[in-house]
Amino acid sequence: AIPAPSPVTPPARLAVIAGPTAVGKGTIVTELRSRHPELFVSVSCTTRAPRPGEEDGVHYRFVDDADFDAMVERGDMLEWALVHGAHRYGTPREPVAEALAQGRPALLEIDLAGARQVRESMPDALFVFIAPPSWEALVERLVGRGTEGAAERERRLATARTEIAAAEEFDVVVVNDTVGRAAAELERRLGLVPAAP
Ligand code: 5GP
Repeated sequence: AIPAPSPVTPPARLAVIAGPTAVGKGTIVTELRSRHPELFVSVSCTTRAPRPGEEDGVHYRFVDDADFDAMVERGDMLEWALVHGAHRYGTPREPVAEALAQGRPALLEIDLAGARQVRESMPDALFVFIAPPSWEALVERLVGRGTEGAAERERRLATARTEIAAAEEFDVVVVNDTVGRAAAELERRLGLVPAAP
């Protein structure tokens, strides 16, 4: 049978992407960014220390506790959360507002608590949950990347369980079976025109 054409929906301007640890959110966002230079991807502030290879202002803006406090007090954060019980992460409001005002599609990659806050202030955003193909696949990826010790892995898996249970709060659930397919599905949902091959 010929599938029915999907209904035409207006392009979503702001997309909020969440999903459990090690599900591959970062890889999907990198893929989308390389396909769509017009896409604005928010750079979060964080109080955690940079990892080897991470650049200030590119992967994150690395700030100290006092700077983070000041930003929150001034109302400069669109949302913020304590992630994995360890460090604070937040989305600076101004660059997102500016991108949207310029008509650029914008994307945030944040945790569940942050996504819930954005849902309150910007209910028209598109909320996307990236899910693993299976629980086993998620555990395998987390162990495989080898960036966390056993205790930290357990902590992240406990958080992941809670997050996956909240997937139904999102507008769309995208299964990250392969990066190419997941990125293509997101392009479609975000109304991005696929780049020429
Ligand atoms: P990592 O320390 O591994 O780079 O990030 C840990 C977690 O922080 C990820 O799950 C990511 O989604 C979340 N995160 C990164 N930036 C933000 C942000 O600006 N706000 C919130 N709420 N979470 C964030």
